[in-house]
Amino acid sequence: MHILATDLDRTLLPNGSWPADPGAIELFNELTQQHELLLVYVTGRNLDLTEAAIREYGVRYPDVLCGDVGTTIRRYRQGEWLPDPGWDDKVHRDSPAWDAAAVRATVAGIEGMREQEAAHLNPFKQSYYVDHARREQILEQVEAAVKGRFDEAIVYSFDSRNGKGLLDFLPASATKQTALEYVAQAHDTPREEVVFCGDSGNDIFPLTAGFSGVLVRNADEQLVENVRLACERNPALRVYFARGGCRGLSGYYTSGVIEGCYHYGLFPRQ
Ligand SMILES: [Mg+2]
Repeated sequence: MHILATDLDRTLLPNGSWPADPGAIELFNELTQQHELLLVYVTGRNLDLTEAAIREYGVRYPDVLCGDVGTTIRRYRQGEWLPDPGWDDKVHRDSPAWDAAAVRATVAGIEGMREQEAAHLNPFKQSYYVDHARREQILEQVEAAVKGRFDEAIVYSFDSRNGKGLLDFLPASATKQTALEYVAQAHDTPREEVVFCGDSGNDIFPLTAGFSGVLVRNADEQLVENVRLACERNPALRVYFARGGCRGLSGYYTSGVIEGCYHYGLFPRQ
């Protein structure tokens, strides 16, 4: 069975500055329910904020939620979220040096970053707001202090809605990419049959991990450039850049996700 995995904010959800096609979300819901596929949301949002997005935008419930930037995995069955018990064990096994409290203590003295609210932290996610204008200098200090000590991944992204820089420290084995790899493996789905759609920062990892990638048309310039560079280095990567025109849609947000699904044959052409 094919897997359709998508980021939420500004990928599936039309919450950026580009115009959204009316009716695109209804079409997405209909097509993904009509055609047999496993729908996975891969998002920085926690469970509460994911449910808020489902209510606010009317996107359907997924089959699997890789939330909190991939640090949590839940299945959705008959109105209930079921945590995946194997995931935490695997992360502990694969990133034995990970220690959120130690990361916190290590970066405590660095200026220009502020710890995020408790709802955005978990044992596998130590996150900060960063002064975006000073990011280069801050990230340099962060790397010098942290890099390589905690089996960690250091992921920076930028929230274009509020101008905030977001910095996540995660176990290297619990990112958007590894969470999706875990879900694919659990469903015996080869990488190329996993379509992943994204728009920014931390989507770079799943977009360059050998899945069938889709960049929605509104994707960040920085991400587009990084993905193009990755494709030059590794011509075997499959990445599709949505451009609009599919079923009369614009290619932005939800429409770009739909366009990518047609491109990779998840929905048959009419
Ligand atoms: Mg996004």
